[in-house]
Amino acid sequence: MIHVRRLAPKAPRALTAALGLGLLALTASVVPALYRAMDGGAADTLTLAVALPPPPPPAAEAVAPASEWRTVRIASGQTLGSVFADLGLSPRTMHRLLEVPEAKQMASRLQVGSELAFEIGPDGELRGLRFDQDESRRIALAVTEDGVRREVIERPIERRTLVAGGTITSSLFADGARAGLSAPVMLDMVKALQYDIDFAQDLREGDSFQIVYEELWREGERLRDGGVVAVNFVNQGKHYTALRFEHEGRAEFFDLEGRPLRKSFMRTPIEFARLTSGFGARRHPILGRMRMHNGVDYAAPVGTPIFAAGDARVKFAGWQNGYGRTVILDHGNGVTTLYAHMSRLGPHRVGERVRQGQTIGYVGASGLATGPHLHYEFRVNGVHRNPLTVTMPKPEPLKGPALAEFRRATAPALAQLRRLEGTQLAAR
Ligand SMILES: [Zn+2]
Repeated sequence: MIHVRRLAPKAPRALTAALGLGLLALTASVVPALYRAMDGGAADTLTLAVALPPPPPPAAEAVAPASEWRTVRIASGQTLGSVFADLGLSPRTMHRLLEVPEAKQMASRLQVGSELAFEIGPDGELRGLRFDQDESRRIALAVTEDGVRREVIERPIERRTLVAGGTITSSLFADGARAGLSAPVMLDMVKALQYDIDFAQDLREGDSFQIVYEELWREGERLRDGGVVAVNFVNQGKHYTALRFEHEGRAEFFDLEGRPLRKSFMRTPIEFARLTSGFGARRHPILGRMRMHNGVDYAAPVGTPIFAAGDARVKFAGWQNGYGRTVILDHGNGVTTLYAHMSRLGPHRVGERVRQGQTIGYVGASGLATGPHLHYEFRVNGVHRNPLTVTMPKPEPLKGPALAEFRRATAPALAQLRRLEGTQLAAR
């Protein structure tokens, strides 16, 4: 459910582990003082949804004999066919409905808990069926003599912007909760700043933060929290700001100058692993003679996912002598990375693009290996470098029109952060 795999360079393993064990176990320390306010200027707000009439039949049908609506919540093991049978509806009608692409898709992806509303006529025949195609779209099917009529009812999702802030006194997540912030929002904040702050070790009493985040609403009902839009964090007197901005089709966090916070490379392309062999000359564990170890080894259970260390194009995916199942990624600028001894390759083929953090394979012991581990190499212009110490190239900052757009798009959230920070300082 929660993606923590991008936790990277700064000793993230402790944090990753803590998060893995349960968010609330994270014992950084923080506290309240909390300010939470609905944003008045709804600049990012989409148009308000039109209230959707509940399933009951429209008034026009008063003329015809009344039909009855029955809502079915799908239980484990149920299929559309079994629901039809339970309601005494004919399989023929079901097959007519399934000619509608949305209905076919719904039937094939039917999930426990999803709701279907059946309109059943006094004769016991199906008159209509309603279901949600996704969060913002409801499909209404009407069974008529001429066929099945389909209507799409849009249920726009409204994004409301909220701000909250707090001061660290005991536990990051507890203090977040006191500020009205849910664990997913706090986790999103941690992800935004993970490259700069080690939340497992660096937090201090008195650290403070301000967050601008979203809530998703539909038809006047709160659906869930959205993501963090902007965050300001003062850690041991140092200011960190992360601003979300969509660039080249991907929403990412940038600093005030428009430089991506995400680093070009993860230092360790695997989670929950133990470094078992460093870079350099060593006695080969199987061959017995001194040999240069061109990479680093991480012991991990068979099947542990291995991540692309950075955005790349797949250069090789297959078997190599000694290395076993291997993936080589080309990151451009002369940098390639190699991942060996996999039990299984990921889904990507040679030539495909992968993004940092995507799973490219799974730990194994294929090739010349004494036990399951990842052998990881980092090459610059063909020369092997120590992945633990090599200077990683910095990501490119936004420039020109992209930078101008970034400044324009993030200005409102930045202003909200500043206002809240001012309020918090004044309250001290
Ligand atoms: Zn190795």
